[in-house]
Parts: sequence; structure tokens; C-alpha cells
Amino acid sequence: MHMSFTADEIAFREEVRSFLAASLPEHIREGARNTPSVFVEPDIGDEWQRILHEKGWLAYHWPKEAGGTGWDPVQRYIFEKECALADAPALSVLGLKLVAPVIYTFGTDEQKARFLPRILDGSEKWCQGYSEPGAGSDLASLKTRAALQGDGRTYRINGSKIWTTHAHYADWMFCLVRTNPDVKAQEGITFLLVPMHQKGITIRPIITLAGDHEVNQLFLDDAETTAEYRIGEEGQGWSIAKFLLENERGGSCAAPRLIADIDRLRRAAGNQPSGTNGAYGHLPSVEARLVALELEAQALEITELRILAELKAGRRPGPQTSLVKLVASSLRQKIDEMAVDIFGPYGLQLPPERPLYGNSAPEPVGSREAQLAMPTYLNSRAWTIFGGTNEVQKTIIAKTVLGL
Ligand SMILES: Cc1cc2nc3c(=O)[nH]c(=O)nc-3n(C[C@H](O)[C@H](O)[C@H](O)COP(=O)(O)OP(=O)(O)OC[C@H]3O[C@@H](n4cnc5c(N)ncnc54)[C@H](O)[C@@H]3O)c2cc1C
Repeated sequence: MHMSFTADEIAFREEVRSFLAASLPEHIREGARNTPSVFVEPDIGDEWQRILHEKGWLAYHWPKEAGGTGWDPVQRYIFEKECALADAPALSVLGLKLVAPVIYTFGTDEQKARFLPRILDGSEKWCQGYSEPGAGSDLASLKTRAALQGDGRTYRINGSKIWTTHAHYADWMFCLVRTNPDVKAQEGITFLLVPMHQKGITIRPIITLAGDHEVNQLFLDDAETTAEYRIGEEGQGWSIAKFLLENERGGSCAAPRLIADIDRLRRAAGNQPSGTNGAYGHLPSVEARLVALELEAQALEITELRILAELKAGRRPGPQTSLVKLVASSLRQKIDEMAVDIFGPYGLQLPPERPLYGNSAPEPVGSREAQLAMPTYLNSRAWTIFGGTNEVQKTIIAKTVLGL
């Protein structure tokens, strides 16, 4: 594995830097910096998505045949790193990174033509209907039932999905349903695409501890979709779900954004009075904490680069993605904990209003960074839960990496 970029890769990095300098507006950067939740709101997210789509760089991890850039893993890494350093908003993964690879890998030509262009132009948004009350870590026990009707075409769906991120913005949901209750749990699951705007679906918001409306509970009461929107055959849903989860856990590079956030933390600590002699950042205990975070982030970055090398050589990363998910989530939380500590009492403010940018943002007490610390800290508690909890990742690592 080579640890330095080739001349072509350095030239590509310069091209990305120039594009970001010219095309990423300051109000979008400000919005992204001042968003305490994982996903940015549609006002800045959609605008950034349109800019990238016009440039032809939105589907930067899709193959060319599917309408993507066809970039190799190193180019994708460079692009993600430069975006993180430039404060670009994280793109919503639901359509672009989760369901799109499923559609272009397992879908029919009609499904590809129906859905992929609308994911790219942003005209249709997606949500993920996997988890249910009682089926999270043990996903295979899901109970939402879908039954093909007598016409051989219509699926009628009954049950409930929970923690459904951005369902309130979604036009479609990709979801796992039970089509056969009489076989082994995993074998009775099917992957369906379901239109959200119908009377059989009720969305109930869940407001999180931080005050964000990101997640929802859905009730499906005779909701409908059709067989033409089923991906694969009945009973193949579990293997498609696992393919998607592997992408969710390891499909992108977490380290660059974490490193950028540690840099920001270092600057904030350098400006914050310590109450004794000089700035907080100059206290040896604070410096030691920052260095420990930096080292952990750099080690993560090397692991991510190793995964890229695997991908570039045509191999699948497999359970290494669980390692990345585990380390990245825990590091995310440590960074956000330290931000609360740095701002002292000012780090305890928790404004109920959203967004925390633009003209209607609430006045911060102290600085905007201080105002963001607590909402971000509370929001980031979810990192070690969504996409599979830490305990679940550790079990996967124990079994598949350590052979325990
Ligand atoms: C902010 C947020 C957004 C989310 N977005 C979505 C979404 O868009 N779509 C979607 O489908 N889901 C989403 N989820 C749901 C997420 O995937 C689940 O919360 C997660 O899989 C855990 O399931 P659970 O909440 O049912 O907890 P449980 O599975 O009930 O787990 C409870 C606790 O028990 C532990 N535990 C469970 N089983 C084991 C085991 N075998 N060994 C050791 N420990 C175990 C867990 O680690 C956890 O600490 C989201 C969750 C959050 C918090």
C-alpha cells in the first residue's frame, strides 16, 4: 500500500479545491458549521446537492454506467476530505448512498430508469424503513407484514417503523417487510420501495433530547405498493439489507471530518480563557486530550485508507467496516464531549429553535460555537446507536475478525 498520492491524484485534489473555493457559497458553509444534527436541513442540503449535480459530481461513488462519476476509491476519499475541510454539508445518504447502490446493483432496468435520475436531480427524497419497535439490533425479527393481493400486483402493508430519519421530507421509503412468516426469520423478508404520500402511512415526529426533529415513527395501515417496486424476489430482502448495511457502516470516510472538527476544537480551546493563566488550550491536561483525539483520528484515517486500498484492488471491505463504524462513532462523541467542557457554563445552553444559522437563529450567549456545543453533544449520543450499535459492531468484530 502506497501512503502518498500520485501526481494525477494531486492534480485531482487541486481541481476539487478550486471547485470548492469557487462554487461552495459561504451561507452553505455557515449552515453546515452551525448544524448540530447529523443531517443538514433541506434548505442548505438541497442547494449543495444541486450545485454538485450541475457539476456532475453528486454521485461521486456511483459507477459511470449508473450515472455516477466512476471515480476510484482514492478519488472519492480526496473529494470527501476536501469537502470536510471546506465545511461542505454532509450529503443525505438515504437516497444517494443507501438505496441507489441497491437499485443499480439489484434493480431491473425499469427500476433504474424510474428512480436513479430522480435521486440525482433531488426531485425525490428517501427514508429507510428497517427498524421497528422491538426490532432494531435484532432486525431479522421484524414484523411489518406485506401480502401480495389477489391481483398479483398490489402489496398491502401493515405494521410500524421507528427512528425513520427524515421520513417527513421523504417521497419514498425503502423498507424491509415480512412476506412469509412460516420460514426461518431471515428467509421471509422482502425489500420493497413504498411511496410515502398515501393515506395508509401516518408519520409521528419524535423530537430528540437535543430538540431536533430528525426521526419519526411510521404507522402503516393497509399502505400499498406494487410488485414492480420490489427489489429482487420475495425472500431476498435479508441479503440485500446486509449489502446496504455494509455500505452504511463503511461506505464513506469519517476521519477527515473528525480531523477538521478536532482542528476547530483546538482553535476554540486556544481562544477560551481558562480562568487561571492564559487560554484553556494551553493547559497541559487539555493539550493531552487534544493530542489523544488527534492520534485516534489519524489512526482511523489510516484504517480508512487501508479499506480504500482493498476496494481499489477489487476486494470488498467486509467486517472492517464495523471497526470503522465503532471507532468513528466513539471518537465523534469524545470530540463533542470535549467541546462542552471547553465552553464551561456557555456550553450548557440548549436553544429550542432551529436552525442555528441564518437571520432567524437565536442569539447565542457567548459565541455561536458555544451555543452549538450542547445540542451537538446531545445529538451525537445517537452515533453509537444508528447503523448498528457499538455492542453489535463489537460482536461482529469478535466473530469475523478475531474468530472468537
Ligand atoms: C438518530 C437515529 C436515527 C436512526 N435512523 C434510522 C433510520 O432512518 N431507519 C431505520 O430503520 N432505523 C434508524 N435508526 C434505528 C437504529 O438502527 C436502531 O436504533 C439500532 O439498530 C438499535 O436498535 P434499538 O433502538 O431497537 O435498540 P435495541 O436493539 O433494543 O438495543 C438496546 C441495547 O441493547 C444492546 N443489545 C441489543 N442486542 C444485543 C446483543 N445481541 N448483544 C449485546 N448487546 C445488545 C444494544 O447495543 C443497545 O445498547 C436510527 C436510530 C437513531 C438513534
